[in-house]
Amino acid sequence: MREECGIVAVSGSGAAAELAFLALYALQHRGQESAGIVTVDDHGAHHTHKGMGLVADVFDEETLGRLDGSLAIGHVRYSTAGRSSLRNAQPLLVDYRDHPLALAHNGNLTNAAELRDRLSGEGAIFQTDADSEAIIHLIARSRRGDEDQRVDDALSQVVGAFSLVLCIGDTVYAARDPRGFRPLVLGRLGEAVVVTSETCALDIIGAAYVRDVRPGEVLKIRDGHIEELRPLPPEQPSSCLFELVYFARPDSKVWGQSVDGARRAFGRQLAREHPVEADCVFAVPDSSNSAALGYSRESGVPFEFALIRNHYVGRTFIDPSQAGRDFRVRVKYNPVRELIEDRRLIVVDDSLVRGTTSRGLVTLLRENGAKEVHFRVASPPVRFPCYYGIDMPTREELIGSSHSVDEIRDHLGVDSLGYLSMEGMHAAVEDHGPFCDACWSGKYPAPLVDLRGHSTLQGA
Ligand code: AMP
Repeated sequence: MREECGIVAVSGSGAAAELAFLALYALQHRGQESAGIVTVDDHGAHHTHKGMGLVADVFDEETLGRLDGSLAIGHVRYSTAGRSSLRNAQPLLVDYRDHPLALAHNGNLTNAAELRDRLSGEGAIFQTDADSEAIIHLIARSRRGDEDQRVDDALSQVVGAFSLVLCIGDTVYAARDPRGFRPLVLGRLGEAVVVTSETCALDIIGAAYVRDVRPGEVLKIRDGHIEELRPLPPEQPSSCLFELVYFARPDSKVWGQSVDGARRAFGRQLAREHPVEADCVFAVPDSSNSAALGYSRESGVPFEFALIRNHYVGRTFIDPSQAGRDFRVRVKYNPVRELIEDRRLIVVDDSLVRGTTSRGLVTLLRENGAKEVHFRVASPPVRFPCYYGIDMPTREELIGSSHSVDEIRDHLGVDSLGYLSMEGMHAAVEDHGPFCDACWSGKYPAPLVDLRGHSTLQGA
C-alpha cells in the first residue's frame, strides 16, 4: 500500500493529546486523508479518536477532552494504492498482553506482502490493509524475552522505509529503519519528550529540537527518560531527497538543513544551469516559492507573485482520476493578468510528475497573454515510482519516464524547458548524505522484496 504520513509521540505531559493534535496540525501537508490520536492514561487505559479528513475537522474540544493521559501517539495519512477507509487510519491499536499497543508509521515496507503471507499462513488475522500491521503481529508473536527484545526482533524482520512511534502501555518506542529514508526528530518540552516527523511540529508546540533520531536507532522513552536500545543492523544511509525538493515544509529542518535553504540552493543552481532572458520569474505556489526566489536572486530576474493559489482546495495531485484535471488547475491557481500579459515569463516548479499541472498552467498563462513561457523545474525528471513512502503514480504515468525533455517541452507548449541536473541537485544540498534519489535514478537502496519476479519491477 502506498501512503504518505506524518507521525508524533508525546510522553510525559498532562496535555499530551492537545500537543499531539497541534503537532499533527503542523504536519497536515504529510497526509490529508485521515487523522488519529491514541492516548494512554495513568491507569494504563487507552483512549482513541480517529476520523477521515483534515486534523482540524477530525478533532474538536470535546473529542480532545476525552483523550486522557500523559502519553499520546498521533498520525496523519494519505494513501492511493490502499483502500482509503477509516479501517486503515492510524494509529493502529491492539490489546497486547494486558496493555494497549498503538503504532504510527511513516514509510512503506518493501516486504509487507511477503510478511503478511507468512504471518497469515501461521494463523495471524489482519484487521487492516496497512503495511504497518505486520510489525504488530511480529511483536506479538516474537518469542524473545522482554518487550525491548520483541520490538527489536520485529523491526529486524521488516525491510524498506519506516520511521515509527509505538507505545506498549506507558512506554514509547521510536525507531528509524537502518537506511533512514523518512525523517524523525526528537524534541523536549520541559519534562516531556516529543518525537515527530518534522521540526515544524516541534515549533508549533514550543518544544526544543534535540536531534534527529539516527538511521537504525531504537529509542525507549518513559517518564521523560530516553534510553538508546541496541541499534538495528547498519545499512548505507539513504535519506530521501524528495523531502527536501517537495514534501517537507520549508520551515522545517530536514537532514540537518533548512528545507527553505535547500530549495533556494536548488533554485540558484537551476538558474546557473538554465539561464534565459525574461521580464520576471515566479513560483507555482507554494511548494516552489523558495526555489523560485533562489532562481531570481541568482539570475537577477525580478521575482513576482504572478500566480495566486487558492488555499481551500486540496492538492490537485490528490484527484485520483485524470478527468477534469485541467479544471482543477484553474480552480487552484489564479493568474495575475497584469504581471503576465505581453511579458516573458520564467515559471519555476519544484517537480514535474505527470506533467498535468504544468500543462494546465501553461494554457492559463497563454490565455492571459504571456509572450514567452520558460518552464524551470528545480529537480531532475521523475522517472521511477517511490516504494519508500512518497506517493507517486505508476511508471507509465510519469511523463519523465517515457519522454525526452524536448518532447515534454512540446507537450507543455512552452518556449523552453530546463530541469535541474542530478549532479546540480546533489551539489546543492549540504553534505549529510548519502541520499536516496531512486525516483530520479531508479537506484533503489532497499530491496523491493514484494516486487521480486514481477514484471513491474521498475529499476533502472
Ligand atoms: P504533475 O501535474 O503530476 O506533474 O504534478 C506536479 C506538481 O505536483 C508539482 O507542482 C509538485 O509540487 C506536486 N507534487 C509532486 N509530487 C507530489 C506528491 N507526491 N504529492 C502531491 N503533489 C506532488
